[in-house]
Amino acid sequence: LEEQIRQSEKLAVIGELAAGTAHEIRNPLTSVKGFIQLLDRKYEMDAPEKEYFRIILSELNRVNDIIREFLLLSKPTDPNLRVIDINSVMEDIRTLMTSDALLHNIDLEFHFSEDPAECEVDVEQIKQVFINLIRNAFEAIGLNGRLSITTRVLEKECEVLFADNGPGISNEAISRIFEPFFTTKEEGTGLGLTVSYRIIQNHGGTISVDSEEGKGTTFKVVLPLKK
Ligand code: ADP
Ligand code: MG
Repeated sequence: LEEQIRQSEKLAVIGELAAGTAHEIRNPLTSVKGFIQLLDRKYEMDAPEKEYFRIILSELNRVNDIIREFLLLSKPTDPNLRVIDINSVMEDIRTLMTSDALLHNIDLEFHFSEDPAECEVDVEQIKQVFINLIRNAFEAIGLNGRLSITTRVLEKECEVLFADNGPGISNEAISRIFEPFFTTKEEGTGLGLTVSYRIIQNHGGTISVDSEEGKGTTFKVVLPLKK
């Protein structure tokens, strides 16, 4: 419990920080990026400086990604709620993610509950969570694998399971994956799961993980059904 309190205090601080500063950082960043692109045009294609510009721009994009996720962290305070069948949200997600799955030769399977999974949610935020979980699974798998997504309707809640056959998560990492900035990726922000945790918590739901190294990982999102 103490750990949970520590975690949620940390998240609250991050949320405030996000709301206050993200926009302020984004504007100057956009202007820096614009001028760098202008400078970049002044060099011939084979100039060694081209490589520096490529690195600068890719690092600026990385900062931009972090800021975007910061803004998402501050958003859940005013969710735009409506009642929707989670299966229909998942249909949209399927359309969004299919080309990525094909590109990486990942078998993306969906198993939808027979009963509608009607929940009162901010659709954009819930989509963000599902996309984060699917991206993470794709990144973990790399090439050739399987991600199976299942929705289930229980008495008072609906469950969404994301089961991949990627490399799994080590025991020491698993206790930290929801922490802000925890990442094992070269290009990671370590904010995807932090944001997701926050969004699901704000919806009165839970998000949990079960993983075995060498076998795969399953994330479970539970959302209350609309009565
Ligand atoms: P990021 O994707 O930027 O690293 P996240 O918060 O989305 O940040 O994820 C944190 C870490 O959790 C990842 O770096 C990775 O180590 C681990 N992780 C998340 N999902 C999976 C998965 N499906 N399989 C293996 N590891 C995962
Ligand atoms: Mg991620």
